[in-house]
Amino acid sequence: MVSVLRSLLLLLSRQSWLRRWMETSPAADRITSRFVAGSTLERELTVCQKLNAEGILATLDHLGESVTSLEEAQSARDDYLAALHCLAGLSPPATVSVKLTQLGLNFSEDACRANVEQLVECAGRIDSRVEVDMESSEYVDRTLRMVSDLHAKHGNVRAVIQAYLYRSESDIEALCREGVPVRLCKGAYREPSDLAFPKKSDVDGNYARLMIRLLDHGVYPALATHDEKLLRRAIAHIRERNIPADRFEFQMLYGVRRDLQRRLVADGFRLRLYVPYGNAWYPYFMRRLAERPANVLFLARNLLKS
Ligand SMILES: Cc1cc2nc3c(=O)[nH]c(=O)nc-3n(C[C@H](O)[C@H](O)[C@H](O)COP(=O)(O)OP(=O)(O)OC[C@H]3O[C@@H](n4cnc5c(N)ncnc54)[C@H](O)[C@@H]3O)c2cc1C
Repeated sequence: MVSVLRSLLLLLSRQSWLRRWMETSPAADRITSRFVAGSTLERELTVCQKLNAEGILATLDHLGESVTSLEEAQSARDDYLAALHCLAGLSPPATVSVKLTQLGLNFSEDACRANVEQLVECAGRIDSRVEVDMESSEYVDRTLRMVSDLHAKHGNVRAVIQAYLYRSESDIEALCREGVPVRLCKGAYREPSDLAFPKKSDVDGNYARLMIRLLDHGVYPALATHDEKLLRRAIAHIRERNIPADRFEFQMLYGVRRDLQRRLVADGFRLRLYVPYGNAWYPYFMRRLAERPANVLFLARNLLKS
């Protein structure tokens, strides 16, 4: 039942008619407030400052993906450049997380690369980093190719690997050899069983293996999960091997498992939250519902209450 609901939510996440209707709804703020900082950069910066005061780092995501023209991609790049200028005021500066389909990958790999490179250069000037989110499997080769090239040229870029893909172990080996920092997540898209583990227990098992590999051989890995069992396993390994706390970070999503977030910080670990903002929230929001279909009930209760 849960997996049917999850598939349905992921299917709905790609319906443009529903997206248009939801994103322009007068109830948009109420619907999204749990997972999204707000619609403006100003609101995003306020949230990042608040997190910094609690000892939590941030990665800023200007919501948007699969733009419909190169002009839109350039406009997304300009929004990120404006955000990076403001992030310079934070100490330490936040990173930015980008999606290549937001920066034009569906239209031109070269134009997309030029857009990302401008962001990487700008981030480098303020001691920040560009984290390149991983989208569905059709983009993995192009995304990793671009991240590797930019890493070789500039350094301050991070790749994302999804533990649900069979190929991820060999991708991680290659990234470790090149010294590219990796964010490891489970994966949030609908993938066929010839590309990704269909069973959650296998995804979790693969995550655990890849996580240990990254902790032992990766360059400043980011473990992105809210899975308590995996976090306990990571912490046990970190303590057993005496891995210093500044050699890796944990990452979580804004609004998810705040109890765990506080606990990690109190235990002296580095934690970075993925904090999205903007009006194009629908696909991101639907993936969060799909990860935990009980969120649909939570949302319905909140809307009825207000
Ligand atoms: C910082 C960060 C960056 C990410 N970047 C990407 C990316 O680039 N590409 C990509 O495909 N995916 C990305 N993801 C999403 C990721 O792939 C998973 O879909 C998501 O993190 C849920 O998996 P989990 O590891 O938390 O484990 P799960 O087994 O799904 O969840 C473990 C527990 O966490 C809690 N939980 C998890 N999700 C939710 C939720 N939405 N609402 C409420 N509780 C929840 C529940 O208590 C659940 O039992 C990212 C995740 C994080 C944290």
